[in-house]
Amino acid sequence: MKERARILVVGGGYVGMYTALRLQRRLKAEIRRGEAEVTVVSPDPYMTYQPFLPEAAAGSISPRHVVVPLRRVLDRCRIVVGEVRSLDHAARTATLTTLATDEEGGDPRRVEYDELVLAPGSVARTLPVPGLADHGIGFKTVEEAIGLRNHVLEQMDIASSTRDPAVRAAALTFVFVGGGYAGVEALGELEDMARYATRYYHNLTPEDMRWVLVEATGRILPEVGEDMGRYTVTELRRRNIDVRLETRLDSCADRVARLSDGSRFPTRTLVWTAGVKPHPLLAGTGLPLDARGRLLCTPELAVDGAPHAWAAGDAAAVPDVTAPAPGDGPRPLCAPNAQHAVRQAAVLGDNIAHSLRGEPLDTYAHHHAGSVASLGLHQGVAHVYGRKLKGYPAWFMHRAYHLSRLPTVNRKARVLAEWVLGGLFTREIVSLGSLEHPRAEFELAAGRKPPRDPEDDPKGSS
Ligand SMILES: Cc1cc2nc3c(=O)[nH]c(=O)nc-3n(C[C@H](O)[C@H](O)[C@H](O)COP(=O)(O)OP(=O)(O)OC[C@H]3O[C@@H](n4cnc5c(N)ncnc54)[C@H](O)[C@@H]3O)c2cc1C
Repeated sequence: MKERARILVVGGGYVGMYTALRLQRRLKAEIRRGEAEVTVVSPDPYMTYQPFLPEAAAGSISPRHVVVPLRRVLDRCRIVVGEVRSLDHAARTATLTTLATDEEGGDPRRVEYDELVLAPGSVARTLPVPGLADHGIGFKTVEEAIGLRNHVLEQMDIASSTRDPAVRAAALTFVFVGGGYAGVEALGELEDMARYATRYYHNLTPEDMRWVLVEATGRILPEVGEDMGRYTVTELRRRNIDVRLETRLDSCADRVARLSDGSRFPTRTLVWTAGVKPHPLLAGTGLPLDARGRLLCTPELAVDGAPHAWAAGDAAAVPDVTAPAPGDGPRPLCAPNAQHAVRQAAVLGDNIAHSLRGEPLDTYAHHHAGSVASLGLHQGVAHVYGRKLKGYPAWFMHRAYHLSRLPTVNRKARVLAEWVLGGLFTREIVSLGSLEHPRAEFELAAGRKPPRDPEDDPKGSS
């Protein structure tokens, strides 16, 4: 082992957190002796358990419990809350900004390292659809999930209080674009929550709401297979959700969703979950990328041809060695999902330790186990180890699986307690959108005029 190994982990998500966790276990003695040092750079001081975001949006889990505090879990690592802006891997340096950078004069900090783990994940894949940047809502972070929950409940309050039928119709129309995990689960959970909430409104019924799922291909939830995807379409339609396959969003300018089949829906809610693309940071690193912009990796999770650089998760193109290579062509790649990310992180952590000790590296090999998805309370769909499940059993499996995967016993206990309490008592149905503007009331009391926000205009007349 070298005299001192400085390991820089970029990202504190699935791969970042689990790799650092593995490293602090494998290199425990070295870290104690000062021979190894693990620094994790992440814009947030927590890891987000993304598969629970739809349940957080529905109010079944509180936002604090879908995130894992990095400082507590990674107590032998250094946590830097900041963003890596650029990398010069030849010189083994990274530049990063932190929350203090502006106050310090704006110059990014330079950090030197010996081993680099690149795990910045992915960002929403957007298209140049008119109005999307102005009105679209993403669903990748806990802030977005809770913001969307508050927004949906607020639209119900607007619809309940307006006398204008056009305002009411737009407020009660919810359009989701993209039929993968994120879109289908978010729609399923939020529709279920909103349907429940209508019980407490004197002038709203579930039939007054219009929920639309727009998917460009002919199927949804490809993760659970064709049969279960078809079942999901039938199930959502049975719930009066308007599922439009082979349809694209052409525009959402002026808050009117115009679809490729000619239909148009005035709406104040357009959720964009039409896939992800690798983080843009990767493009400027000079490291080898595949056609989609992911880091080209070996099955040992090293960046191909870049010694001392490692990657995994959504940012990495990792060959799936369990899949047969088609003829002479390249092997298929591991799908960008949590199932691979968490397992790759363990191998990645081990391989860095092996490499520092001059030991042979392990190969990443994992047979896809299948997928589970929740479609609302007591409703789900699953395809695991060849077994197909629907309805309550699938929903139960979804919860059991993700509870077992959620990091830390502390988080597991809190989420389980919330589920038990949720089963005993009624659901929470208040919108706390004002939490996003905590100073508003004081500013008003102090005489400052509130700024006019077009998003607050119920007519959406922009
Ligand atoms: C709503 C939703 C539901 C999902 N459900 C499932 C599911 O049920 N099953 C499943 O298998 N998968 C699911 N996924 C996918 C899964 O969450 C991802 O595949 C997984 O998170 C990828 O892990 P990662 O570490 O590569 O990226 P992430 O977990 O996204 O982590 C990336 C981290 O890098 C940080 N970062 C970004 N830029 C920088 C920078 N410049 N400097 C430093 N840090 C940076 C980010 O803030 C983040 O912390 C879901 C995803 C979403 C959005």
